[in-house]
Amino acid sequence: MALDFKQGISKQITKLNMKTSTFLEENKIKTFIGTLENDIRDLKVKAGELGYQMWRSGNFDPNQLIPLYKEISTKEAQIQEQEQQMKEIVAKNQQVLGQTSSESLSSAPGNAVICPKCGASCPANVNFCKKCGNKLH
Ligand SMILES: [Zn+2]
Repeated sequence: MALDFKQGISKQITKLNMKTSTFLEENKIKTFIGTLENDIRDLKVKAGELGYQMWRSGNFDPNQLIPLYKEISTKEAQIQEQEQQMKEIVAKNQQVLGQTSSESLSSAPGNAVICPKCGASCPANVNFCKKCGNKLH
């Protein structure tokens, strides 16, 4: 009994650490994406100004704009990469937390379903009743 309690506590702490590290990781990525978005905005302004100045001076040369466009597309690709990474982190985290919460009902009181056959309270993410084996979904 005491051992169960201890294990329960360490499970909660693991979960908390997991949440915290995911939160920090997500924030780091969000900040990086924000920086990239600002850079892209600046580059677009720069390209716009350069294009306009060239047009005004009667010497419009698109080749001068291409390096800026390339820089923009590189940064856009970086943003996509970061967003993909964030999705993976969130998915991984949900997987781990989902497994943990299915082991103990009390940690996820909002996700319980009542078995229509025997009335037992079961985690929403299991397909069969833990008490009578009735199909839940
Ligand atoms: Zn049941």
